[in-house]
Amino acid sequence: LLIAFEGIDGSGLTTHSKLLNEKLNKLGYKSIYTKEPTNNEIGILIQKIILDKNKKLDNNIIALLFAADRLYHLMYGDGANEGILSYISKNYIVISDRYKYSNMAYQGDDINWISQLNKFAIEADIIIYLDVPLDVALKRISMRSSVSIFENKIFLEKVKNRYNDILRLANKNGVKVVVINEIADNNREKSIDEVSEEILKNIINILRN
Ligand code: C5P
Ligand code: MG
Repeated sequence: LLIAFEGIDGSGLTTHSKLLNEKLNKLGYKSIYTKEPTNNEIGILIQKIILDKNKKLDNNIIALLFAADRLYHLMYGDGANEGILSYISKNYIVISDRYKYSNMAYQGDDINWISQLNKFAIEADIIIYLDVPLDVALKRISMRSSVSIFENKIFLEKVKNRYNDILRLANKNGVKVVVINEIADNNREKSIDEVSEEILKNIINILRN
């Protein structure tokens, strides 16, 4: 089973995908956490490129690298673990901190082309989409030391809008899409604990059905 965490930067993808993995492990499920860009050769190259503000590469080149990294990730792993496909065949729950839907959202100027590039990448079973307002995401990003060339207001606004279409398309393709709103009814930011428990509840519900 493949669970993909998706959302804009500052939505808490790494925090919440790791927490879900810990919680599932504690409950006795076989699960692993992995992420992209990976720490294999291709992923390391990507990380270097997207942190270099002086060397802005054409987004299509970055799209190709991400697609290559993803295929490597599926087949051979993230640099530390085996490939995602191998874990899935051993009935693990694989939790990926970003997956091909990020490729579509961040490099999706031509969504058909990106879909073609990802035709060898299996669909996730579940997408957890962390929904956070742009200003909250930007506030969190401003407190970080390592920020990629994509993490600015104008770009992330575009990414956030694209996610709407991407989630709809994924849902049409049979992916279960769970949208987690990080803002409570009274406009309060939910705590990490609250959000994490909400994610766990949703996943357990799906696993038991
Ligand atoms: O999730 P993480 O912060 O590690 O990702 C590094 C950067 O790569 C992020 O700024 C994200 O915006 C970008 N990214 C991307 N395309 C992807 C995955 C991540 O542009 N397919
Ligand atoms: Mg980030």
